[in-house]
Amino acid sequence: MKFEDLKLHPAILKALKDENYSEPTSIQAQAIPLVLERNDVLGSAQTGTGKTAAFAIPIIQHLINTTRHEKGKRQIKSLVVTPTRELAIQIGESFNAYGKYSNLQNTVIFGGVPQNPQVRQLQKGVDILVATPGRLLDLISQNYISLRDVKYFVLDEADRMLDMGFIHDINKLLKLLPKQRQSLFFSATMPTKILKLSQQILVNPKKVAVNPVSSTAETIQQHIYFTNKSDKKNLLLHILKNEELEQVLLFSRTKHGADRIVRNLRNKNIESAAIHGEKSQNQRQKALLRFKKGEIRVLVATDIAARGIDIDKLRYVINHDIPNEPETYVHRIGRCGRAGEEGVAISLCEPEENAYVKSIEKLIKLRIPVANNNPFPQTDKPMNASEKKEFEAEKKRKRQEFFENRNKKRGNQNPGFRRKRR
Ligand code: AMP
Repeated sequence: MKFEDLKLHPAILKALKDENYSEPTSIQAQAIPLVLERNDVLGSAQTGTGKTAAFAIPIIQHLINTTRHEKGKRQIKSLVVTPTRELAIQIGESFNAYGKYSNLQNTVIFGGVPQNPQVRQLQKGVDILVATPGRLLDLISQNYISLRDVKYFVLDEADRMLDMGFIHDINKLLKLLPKQRQSLFFSATMPTKILKLSQQILVNPKKVAVNPVSSTAETIQQHIYFTNKSDKKNLLLHILKNEELEQVLLFSRTKHGADRIVRNLRNKNIESAAIHGEKSQNQRQKALLRFKKGEIRVLVATDIAARGIDIDKLRYVINHDIPNEPETYVHRIGRCGRAGEEGVAISLCEPEENAYVKSIEKLIKLRIPVANNNPFPQTDKPMNASEKKEFEAEKKRKRQEFFENRNKKRGNQNPGFRRKRR
């Protein structure tokens, strides 16, 4: 199938040509005709499948057709809500790219940065607004945004939205949206609570699905190194000796872990940077940009920060630890081998994570091949029940101590800190 077969407006076809997209991805081929026919859509698709274009293209087409004769200041006719700033920015860039010959205005708003530049953009008038929930509600409450004219509503990455605790914000938002609208709902996974939420939003939706979360892209080679916790640092350096790994996205479960890995790599003169929730918006964007330019070899990310970051032709993903939710593994390795490119996912597994590997293999219905040439093989044993209990208690105590100290510090320095960072 070609984009030409989807009866798209010439302005969109021209923009897609500029992007060098030759044919629609599966989710695009399924969703674009349904959205053009004004159906609500329930889409089961993860980042990397081309889902942004699957909703952006038909929305642009609707807007080209409806805004032609509009007079006066542009009103928000399409609202896209997405959980993270990175995703919001990327969706905004996609609307810019696919809509560049369509005379539409879009703007992106998200928290953690001053609101004034965003307010100024809004005041100029926009057709499409891409937003994260907190800042959106904030600006609505200050009367900078009205949703009165919204006709096309997209809820993106719904599962992640709930994981991040946005359910109350979503419920508030739903009350503010016009009843007469077309709604599109995307989620990588569809557990019951997500389906229930979709039922509150969609009317007679058509369903589209690609890459159920249990399937890992066929173009991704997977390898696992079983090692000891204390050897991971050296094992990572050993793996990075291979110069074929020009650029790597490395996942760390925790923010502190991410910072520690960056410090260790920098000590060995390996250019790296971390992106996680404790980094400012500026720091994250800068790190991403430097990575995209090739100035950083290893970008270390936590799962939430990495969600949705779009890096063209990323070949290597390293799991510095094994996630305890098997779906997270699938999301992580889905960051390489995108759009037909070949990818390699390397995982480092310490004894306590052996059990997680079992659940991952059950989900993906595949034994992850064990890497040859492992100079740091696993020799430690997983803890027994009582050791584990003791370890968990100690960890809890340390965490508590850390948060107490941090809250004390933050309370003293800046009482408004927590609110502002949302
Ligand atoms: P997404 O799932 O929306 O994050 O898109 C994943 C990546 O695929 C992005 O880099 C898009 O630019 C790219 N992409 C989307 N649609 C196509 C297409 N039809 N052909 C080639 N690349 C595409």
